[in-house]
Amino acid sequence: MDLDYGKEYEDFRAEVSGWLSSNWPPKGELAELPLAEGAARFRAMASEAGYLNRNIPRKYGGGEQPPDAIKGQIIREAFAKVHAPMEARGIGSMMLVPTLLERGEEWQKEKFVKGTINGEIIWCQGYSEPGSGSDLASLQTKAELIGDEWVINGQKIWTTTAQQADWMFCLCRSEPDQPKHGGISYLLIPMKQDAITVSPLKQMTGGADFNQVFLEDARTPADHIVGKRGEGWSVSRTTLKHERNSIGNAAQSEAIFKGLVALAKTSQYNGRPALQDPTIRQRLAGLEGYILSHKYSGLRQFTKSAKGEDVGIIGLMNKINSTNIGSEVSKLALDLLGDDGMLDPIAHEEMTLLPTGGNRGWINQYMYSLGIAVAGGTGNIQRNVIGERGLGLPRDYYADRSSGK
Ligand SMILES: Cc1cc2nc3c(=O)[nH]c(=O)nc-3n(C[C@H](O)[C@H](O)[C@H](O)COP(=O)(O)OP(=O)(O)OC[C@H]3O[C@@H](n4cnc5c(N)ncnc54)[C@H](O)[C@@H]3O)c2cc1C
Repeated sequence: MDLDYGKEYEDFRAEVSGWLSSNWPPKGELAELPLAEGAARFRAMASEAGYLNRNIPRKYGGGEQPPDAIKGQIIREAFAKVHAPMEARGIGSMMLVPTLLERGEEWQKEKFVKGTINGEIIWCQGYSEPGSGSDLASLQTKAELIGDEWVINGQKIWTTTAQQADWMFCLCRSEPDQPKHGGISYLLIPMKQDAITVSPLKQMTGGADFNQVFLEDARTPADHIVGKRGEGWSVSRTTLKHERNSIGNAAQSEAIFKGLVALAKTSQYNGRPALQDPTIRQRLAGLEGYILSHKYSGLRQFTKSAKGEDVGIIGLMNKINSTNIGSEVSKLALDLLGDDGMLDPIAHEEMTLLPTGGNRGWINQYMYSLGIAVAGGTGNIQRNVIGERGLGLPRDYYADRSSGK
């Protein structure tokens, strides 16, 4: 495997590092701004220079550069090295923006993309319902076109950031006479209206990251639909593709493993230093093997992207790898904590796979790893997709996806 990027790319790395050393940490007026505002302004400058939001046209606030996976990787490495902010995280930037760019109307891109990538417009994803998770196409939230508005009634659940969101991208049943996948529309709904009630769900971590959302005659203009009426299912597949790819990331697995090794170095297990215990050493060595295979699988995905090839099911495999590793690492951490594992977890401000907050941070990490394995499609569903579409195995016998009922 040749991991050298070559002279042209090393020159590009020097260019990016040079730009960063002049612009990060913020200087002058930018340094006086509150942190979030300063970071937003810095991101806008980096987009302008062509380093961030590279696949987004300039007219929507992006960097507008030809696709180049290696340059993208070099930029990530250079920004991470000096801890400079990268693309705004969040469901809007990571999932809605790519969907709008692929399937949205021109006015929708103009209205939403720039504000979303700058962090000014906050989104939530209204897909799951109490009776519809993995079998999402059975969703029941109803949208009726009355005059020049959609009127929406129903309930969504597990809606992350609904408390803060300005808008929701939402799947609704608009064509009740059509088979289930064909009767869904993808609507953009303003959250700040009296007809929408957001009710936070308290988690075992003590935090409340997601919510129930009740829509009772909620309204949105008729043209706030992405794709045509009844095309919402195929539009939603665009969004999920981006969500799954964004969750599988070997760098996070490496960072969390490093934290685990640091914990093992200072812990006692079975009455002796944990690193002297053969069972702990074996579990650590096994995990390191998984992380290395995750890393090289990530490099395979990267190589395919760099050659402009379809990454196929590797993105799904990487999501499963990273969630499995997150779960196994935190299980071992909990064993190392012993009685301290019974303490209250420290709740995170935002979803992250990296533990903070000392021992209690590891307890939070353990609890969160259970949820991360479910978010964006459960491991079982993804194994089915890998088996059926990737390996050509027969379809799961009990999954009813064709009858339309
Ligand atoms: C941290 C987190 C954040 C989330 N954020 C959002 C959000 O912002 N917006 C949103 O809309 N949703 C969100 N969700 C919801 C998430 O998409 C659903 O939880 C997920 O799709 C699973 O649905 P479910 O919870 O109804 O479980 P179910 O579908 O009831 O699954 C239960 C179990 O059955 C298994 N199973 C079900 N069907 C099959 C099958 N056909 N083959 C094999 N196994 C099967 C599953 O793998 C799982 O183990 C979030 C969830 C989590 C945990």
